[in-house]
Amino acid sequence: MTASYDVINPATERVVATVDQLDRDATDEAIARARAAFVSWRSVAPGDRARLLRRFAEAVDADSENLAQLEVTNSGHTLSNARWEAGNVRDVIAYYSGAPERLIGQQIPVADGVDVTFHEPLGVVGAIVPWNFPMPIASWAFAPALAAGNTVVLKPAELTPLTALRLAELALDAGIPEDVFQVLPGKGSVVGQRFVDHPDVAKIVFTGSTDVGRLVMAGCAQHIKPVTLELGGKSANVVFADSDLELAAATAPYAVFDNAGQDCCARSRILVERSVYDRFMELLETAVKGMVVGDPSDATSEMGPLISASQRERVAAYVPNDDQVAFRGSQPSGPGFWFAPTVLAPTDLTDRVLHEEIFGPVAAVVPFDDEAAAIRIANDSEFGLSGSIWTRDVGRALRVSRAIEAGNLSVNSHSSVRYWTPFGGFKSSGLGRELGPDAPFAFTETKNVFISTKESS
Ligand code: NAP
Ligand code: MG
Repeated sequence: MTASYDVINPATERVVATVDQLDRDATDEAIARARAAFVSWRSVAPGDRARLLRRFAEAVDADSENLAQLEVTNSGHTLSNARWEAGNVRDVIAYYSGAPERLIGQQIPVADGVDVTFHEPLGVVGAIVPWNFPMPIASWAFAPALAAGNTVVLKPAELTPLTALRLAELALDAGIPEDVFQVLPGKGSVVGQRFVDHPDVAKIVFTGSTDVGRLVMAGCAQHIKPVTLELGGKSANVVFADSDLELAAATAPYAVFDNAGQDCCARSRILVERSVYDRFMELLETAVKGMVVGDPSDATSEMGPLISASQRERVAAYVPNDDQVAFRGSQPSGPGFWFAPTVLAPTDLTDRVLHEEIFGPVAAVVPFDDEAAAIRIANDSEFGLSGSIWTRDVGRALRVSRAIEAGNLSVNSHSSVRYWTPFGGFKSSGLGRELGPDAPFAFTETKNVFISTKESS
């Protein structure tokens, strides 16, 4: 241990915990323990591995209120969001507890023998997690990886280690053997980088910014190490004139300002058909001004603070003055890294607020003239993570869904993440998919074995 880190509550700016950070040597020791634990974990009978994961899910369930409170305190998430997040972790582990007995290979017809495939675990999986959804994103990596027979070392974001550390304790309490799932707090440039560079880490699953993702991928290339990347987004919410405009406007703020806009799936570009633009903006203004922004530990709060002072500075730089501000919601005064929900109406489609991920509560609304223009604007982005389409025309909903270059689309709603459906991005939003029925296979190598049945002479 070389250093410690003071964890700050972003709603009060007070220190709530001090966490020891691992240095490179301690990281190497943890990886060595994970490597040793792999030998026995991979050979735990599938039904027993499943049972241990079910117990882990039960332990998370029993601790869910504590986990939620930890996330409120560490990350400033609203209590209702944090409760959902703890429940999501439970459900993700429970879902993948069904995987060990279902890692089914193939039997392929061949001459003079039998040919079968096996899904072999990789070894030690390194998970690197961001601060915006510390609990769920961690579980999307560790649960399928463990289910497939790997051991996991997980680096939480420096800012938000508390829930991940608690999850590691719960895993032990549930009977998951020591060193099978280790949480290693530390700096990205030290612990995260070591996962990438260490020859005994067999795969990296990274969620974070596109810039760091690029570095991680380049580092993995040195070892031909597989990598899953979940990166940034600049998703479009496309509202056609024939949609339920009231519902589209009432829900649009939550699709971008939830978690104070610190959501890779945030629908931060709102594209509105020109004939209903003025009406939509009136409805949106009412909805945005009605959002309850305040103390995240209050169960009625709908939006809390940003994660840090520097994140607030980054976000504020996108709104240097009121020139493009159409309207704003509210924010509390006093301590905390607050930023009011802000709606911009840029007049130039090349404006950076329409292209860069702000990762804060700032939405930009632009009008479009027809379906082709809507698709063109939606796709005018380096990113392609999620998006929404509002229309009552089923054919159009499907045409536009197929035409938008993004991994997760939603028609007449804003849902994008269900643990039993695949999640991930096109273009610079990532590589590979998490969640869904296939996720455990992403933590395996396929092995083909041919067995001769020829009679020996
Ligand atoms: P980040 O700076 O890329 O950090 C993500 C993680 O990588 C952190 O744990 C960080 O450690 C670590 N890291 C930093 N440098 C590293 C290095 N050289 N090698 C290995 N690991 C390193 O991202 P963030 O600021 O935490 O999160 C915000 C970004 O994540 C946004 O762009 C957002 O869109 C994206 N995101 C994407 C998804 C998705 O599923 N597509 C989900 C959530 C967030 P430290 O904590 O020490 O910095
Ligand atoms: Mg960072």
